[in-house]
Amino acid sequence: GAQRESKVRVRAHFDYNPEVDPYIPCKEAGLAFQRGDILHIVSQDDSYWWQARRESERTARAGLIPSRALQERRIIHERTQREIGDGESKKNDDFDRELIATYEEVAKLYPRPGIYRPVVLIGAPGVGRNELRRRLIARDPEKYRSPVPYTTRPMRTGEVAGREYIFVSREKMEADIEAGKFIEHGEYKGHLYGTSAESVKSIVNAGCVCLLSPHYQAIKALRTVQLKPFLIHIKPPEFDELKKTRTDSRAKSTFDESNARGFTDEEFTDMIKSSVRIDFLYGHFFDEEILNADLVTAFEKLVNIVQRVETEPLWAPSSWVQ
Ligand code: 5GP
Repeated sequence: GAQRESKVRVRAHFDYNPEVDPYIPCKEAGLAFQRGDILHIVSQDDSYWWQARRESERTARAGLIPSRALQERRIIHERTQREIGDGESKKNDDFDRELIATYEEVAKLYPRPGIYRPVVLIGAPGVGRNELRRRLIARDPEKYRSPVPYTTRPMRTGEVAGREYIFVSREKMEADIEAGKFIEHGEYKGHLYGTSAESVKSIVNAGCVCLLSPHYQAIKALRTVQLKPFLIHIKPPEFDELKKTRTDSRAKSTFDESNARGFTDEEFTDMIKSSVRIDFLYGHFFDEEILNADLVTAFEKLVNIVQRVETEPLWAPSSWVQ
């Protein structure tokens, strides 16, 4: 018709299949999509059923999808049913996901010359995000840099202040954490560790690509308009392949040196479980995924992704675009 199409684009934070939706007025008119898909919302005229097409299928006919309001209601309803049903209390961070798991408005973020978005590698411990980060820095240390972390632990022989860590007192670090100067921090064997916001900023301002590989709990603190990070989930392959690629004598020597002792079956299982949980909680925040089965292949994909981040306009939360 003559009606003007809306320009709204959203990233779906949930999977949708109209075939199994008992509420949709007409299943044939529905549009199926998956979490992470970019959707062009053609019409929001109806408060329950929006019309949309997948951004990757620009010429396709628009289909019906649940509106944000409808999907939010559904989530609240399902949660209530579940709570009545099993009475099982949920982990606190489950709510992080459910509160926002509908649609996120996105727009194309254009690369700015000389100012690169930080690239954040998230993954279960042991899957290889630190090794991938180290390889990228080794490939071009002028361009790719990681901030030197802060710690309150004493310096070890052979370490240089400002090289492995910036060594500070516990009082100073606690005060700085309190003042919001750290983008992430944690405690390990009685000592504090963390990355300061200032050190990330100075890498960005120096015209370098800042690489971070924090604990996944840092995602929410990092995902700000100031940093505009690009998030990559480094995932393990399924058990047999994970075990094979990490136990193979040739593969072992090329993996993280801290892995040289090898992993137990239980540790492999934990990596997979942890990765599934990261995906459940934060899957909708990831811009890309890299399957780290073969390290060489995974690294090639990382190089490719980082090149695109540096040069191409990419979908990002619309609030980050001006
Ligand atoms: P180490 O004291 O042996 O150098 O490091 C021990 C552990 O401290 C690391 O395995 C890691 O878990 C943690 N760590 C090191 N740097 C950081 C950091 O920047 N942030 C956080 N949260 N933990 C870190």
